[in-house]
Amino acid sequence: MSAQILDGNALSKTIRAEVAQRAQALTARGVKPGLVVILVGENPASQVYVRNKVKACLDCGMHSVLEQYEATLSEAALLGHIARLNADPAIHGILVQLPLPKHIDEHKVIEAIAPEKDVDGFHVSNAGLLMTGNPLFRPCTPYGVMKMLAAAQVPIKGNHAVIVGRSNIVGKPMAMLLLQESATVTICHSATRDLKAMTLQADILVAAVGRPRMITGDMVKPGAVVVDVGINRLPDGKLCGDVDFASASEVASWITPVPGGVGPMTITMLLVNTIEAAERTL
Ligand code: NDP
Repeated sequence: MSAQILDGNALSKTIRAEVAQRAQALTARGVKPGLVVILVGENPASQVYVRNKVKACLDCGMHSVLEQYEATLSEAALLGHIARLNADPAIHGILVQLPLPKHIDEHKVIEAIAPEKDVDGFHVSNAGLLMTGNPLFRPCTPYGVMKMLAAAQVPIKGNHAVIVGRSNIVGKPMAMLLLQESATVTICHSATRDLKAMTLQADILVAAVGRPRMITGDMVKPGAVVVDVGINRLPDGKLCGDVDFASASEVASWITPVPGGVGPMTITMLLVNTIEAAERTL
């Protein structure tokens, strides 16, 4: 293996220590940063995610509450809970864990969150601010990727970033953040012709697809920085990314592992966004 590891666990630890200091400073000024995580239903993966998010907040000295509701909760009742939290001055961030049960309109729910408390950055006004180069919140996963690139001092300006995946939560905001740092950005998706021809041009390659090990070493330009956002569960229960780590790490200069890469950074940036929201209320 020749690539250096972009270690999300180590960087998270450093950033979370800074978050704890900022939380302490805010608390001393009478503003304890507060995040509410809402979970509707009993999706087992979601239950793990939300508990980890609440625990990470508490570990950093922030206020955090998990509001868990039955899968039968009506859309109107959920909107009512969001309205209550929007008006609660002790709460600076509101996160609704997705996916929601089918009878609830996710878009309507996200749009009901006050944009200044939308720590996931999914509200259309926050997407618009990001698009126009003046973000209020950066969506946590791409924000975490940018922090990892900065920590490794990866040059972005003028380099070609290729992103595989165009979701609203990862691919598109990732493209916006890289563009803001003056990368030349290509976004690939399921209708892209000759994906390999695209990925081979990447100085920075971001995989956010959800297909185990689809990016193999022969698709990576020698010396490229490879960021693997994918989290896939294999039949044996183990996790793997969208990148074939064994072959890609022979070619890349830097690479994120799965687990231990982008995953821990996503929760860390949720903490950062909550702190930023609380600081703005001073
Ligand atoms: P989505 O399913 O919303 O988007 C996947 C994207 O991949 C789509 O744009 C799709 O294209 C594209 N795609 C699918 N097949 C191909 C293909 N064969 N070639 C090229 N592009 C393809 O997923 P998310 O963005 O939500 O998540 C992506 C991955 O990242 C998942 O594994 C998810 O678990 C993980 N994830 C990890 C996080 C973390 O913290 N590390 C946070 C969020 C997600 P099209 O639009 O044309 O359908």
